[in-house]
Amino acid sequence: TSKKTSQKITTYSSDQNYYSTRRLSLMGDLAKAIESDELTLFLQPQFDLTTSEVVGAEALLRWSHDVHGFVRPDEFIPLAEKSGLIRSLTAWVIERVMQFDKKLQSLGHNIQLSVNISAKNIAEVNFVTNTLDSLVKHGVAPERIVFEMTETTMMDNPEKALSVLNDLSDLGIQLSIDDFGTGYSSLSYLNQLPVDELKIDRSFVTDMVQNSQNQKIVEMTVNLAHTLGLKVVAEGIEDRETMVQLQTLGCDVAQGYFIGRPMPEEAFLSWLEKQSN
Ligand code: C2E
Ligand code: CA
Ligand code: CA
Ligand code: CA
Repeated sequence: TSKKTSQKITTYSSDQNYYSTRRLSLMGDLAKAIESDELTLFLQPQFDLTTSEVVGAEALLRWSHDVHGFVRPDEFIPLAEKSGLIRSLTAWVIERVMQFDKKLQSLGHNIQLSVNISAKNIAEVNFVTNTLDSLVKHGVAPERIVFEMTETTMMDNPEKALSVLNDLSDLGIQLSIDDFGTGYSSLSYLNQLPVDELKIDRSFVTDMVQNSQNQKIVEMTVNLAHTLGLKVVAEGIEDRETMVQLQTLGCDVAQGYFIGRPMPEEAFLSWLEKQSN
């Protein structure tokens, strides 16, 4: 019940501030930001705990605003979702990710790229077709692209989500459940979805060495994922002990500041070069 209470408070205060000057100003600027170069993709590496290789990267948006400075995605993604701009925002991200994938291919780096997808995208009429068009246009193998969605995203409209996810999965796109453990999806539903990967939320991971409750939750999630034949990724690894513990628990992939912070494209490429040397 403590969780429900805190969520109520969050919703209440964010609604209350919704029409604040800053929010209105940001919302007005977002459309322009998408067209100009105010948005940047950062990439955060994903590290295979079995092979000790970099196997992927998550694309994370950054917005450097000329007046408000650096705006965090936690602030502008909800605005984009409310205003409908999330459609062109996600399209922009997918386009950039495909371009970056081509660059990776030409440099001989065989890794997957993960994109965060919103509930509003799932509801788009042409989302699957547009995704297919981008793949074809850039000659990107669908298996190299992972779409991350939260349980809440999928539970918004379960029937629609199931059909869209089936279509994306048929294309060959990899599907991942983001922030796993923080939503409300049922296990039977999880079994019906064509997902390939579970991503354990960092709220369980970051302090798992000190917090035995969270350690048990992580262990249980790793086992659940493997029982269902899914790959399991842990995010929010900030120190070596956590990484070693995850390795011991059999977690497949790790992501976090200890391995690498989110970096701009060029910095990520040189980081990647250093790893393979
Ligand atoms: P997320 O999908 O759960 O992404 C992981 C967040 O954890 C990122 O925050 C990342 O920078 C942060 N993180 C990674 N490793 C560590 C760590 O070791 N310690 C700590 N304390 N944090 C870590 P970020 O980049 O600020 O993004 C916040 C959220 O904004 C994301 O959460 C995601 O829900 C959303 N977001 C970001 N980019 C996009 C996007 O292109 N589209 C959509 N729809 N949402 C996005
Ligand atoms: Ca994510
Ligand atoms: Ca998360
Ligand atoms: Ca998230």
